Amino acid sequence: MDAKMMFIDGQWVAAVSGETLEVINPATSEQVGVVSFGDGRDAAKAIDAAHQAFRTWSKATARERSKYLYNLYELVRQDRDNLAGIISAEMGKPLREAKGEVLGAADNFMWYAEEAKRVYGETIPSSLPNKRIMVIHQPVGVVAAITPWNFPVNMVARKIAPALAAGCTVVLKPAESTPLSAIRLFELIEQAGFPKGVVNLVIGHPESVGQEFMENTKVRKIAFTGSTRVGKLLMEGAAKHVKRVSMELGGHAPFIIFDDANLDAAVEGLFESKYRTSGQMCICTNRLYVHESVLDSCTEKLVERLKRSKIGDGRNKDTEIGPLVNEKGLSKVLDHIQDAKDKGGYIVYGGNRLTEGEYANGFYVEPTVIVNITNEMKIYNEETFGPVVPIIPFKDEDEVIELANDSNYGLAAYVYTQNNSRCFRMAESLEYGIVGINDGAPTQTQAPFGGFKESGIGREGGYYAMEGFLETKFVSFGV
Ligand code: ADP
Repeated sequence: MDAKMMFIDGQWVAAVSGETLEVINPATSEQVGVVSFGDGRDAAKAIDAAHQAFRTWSKATARERSKYLYNLYELVRQDRDNLAGIISAEMGKPLREAKGEVLGAADNFMWYAEEAKRVYGETIPSSLPNKRIMVIHQPVGVVAAITPWNFPVNMVARKIAPALAAGCTVVLKPAESTPLSAIRLFELIEQAGFPKGVVNLVIGHPESVGQEFMENTKVRKIAFTGSTRVGKLLMEGAAKHVKRVSMELGGHAPFIIFDDANLDAAVEGLFESKYRTSGQMCICTNRLYVHESVLDSCTEKLVERLKRSKIGDGRNKDTEIGPLVNEKGLSKVLDHIQDAKDKGGYIVYGGNRLTEGEYANGFYVEPTVIVNITNEMKIYNEETFGPVVPIIPFKDEDEVIELANDSNYGLAAYVYTQNNSRCFRMAESLEYGIVGINDGAPTQTQAPFGGFKESGIGREGGYYAMEGFLETKFVSFGV
């Protein structure tokens, strides 16, 4: 297999080192591609190209930038099935979910094609008769973006669409597990006709590329989605040159079901929020709090739902839950299950790796439900990133608010209740950037997405994302 290449300054190029990397399908452990795998030297070339391109791209009219983004929207939509197949093959998610992801990415390109035209400034009444105040917004400069493998196309779209709309140029480093979908997206970027150097793709060793992003003063902003651990490293590195950062980091979402909830809707919402992408989303439920009076019925309904779910290769049409992304992801999930068992947890459903038949070569774990949870368990404090849900009973609203907020994370939280006043109280009391009230999938292109506390800084989505790629300039006119 010929190694696929990186896209730098409008050219497909191989890594300076000549190194390559295999891409593996987690459902079968088969090789699905080989890519050129570089380092900081390739990143430096891409940054130079982006820096050069910034001169003209930042001066292009908003309408012109919008035109390229709109082209890309059309191309991504048309390529939906192909891109979805690549996503599923390299990270395992069900095809239906992968198609939804690609449409979400296309929607981002369209939304920001429109938003590019709305970067308004303002004038402010002056206190001095001989001065006038004008405020304008300008692109921050070269953006270095680092994305994870769980939404390998949409995470890229959510960063590069607003960055390009704002007039920034971009160097993207995708995750090592999912370079093939990024390469396909860049083929479409090339077809969309963006001027050379405006959008660049570097695939390579994360530490080395990350180091170049932090050290190179031509990079003005680092936009990252990934673990809190790596986010902190990047923030420390960015501090040296006071680079702008936006960080979408880990989460530990509470999902709260009150006794007045519609339990069927709650269990369906939980299934979406916990088992989609095999539990490998930063907004996935990590702790399920159920009012003690509905604990048994809720647990039964959940187990019923899981019994009906089809686990398998994401490329099969009826698959609902795919494999985990790799061996490391699988080990972590199994470790969390074992740790809970060792500390007195009781497995109500699942709990094991699947190893027979169609599962023999993949990284599959059964969807799992655990009760008798204590706050010493890893599963109670750390992000599991797998299809495992611990159930914790509670007595009243104040107690559950305290429990839910007792976390260093603050990305997403979910509440199911049919009491309107409680909806408002919960929405306002939870220390989370995203709250789903009777909604297990709270994401839309135009809505802000991001976390409180150690879950991140800044917001993606909607016009909020534009702010992260713009500087504010005050111009004082003497008249
Ligand atoms: P996960 O554990 O879910 O893979 P990571 O935070 O390790 O999450 O990965 C998210 C992204 O961050 C990936 O693109 C990965 O290559 C990148 N990454 C990992 N370590 C570093 C690092 N030291 N510097 C820069 N990027 C990194």
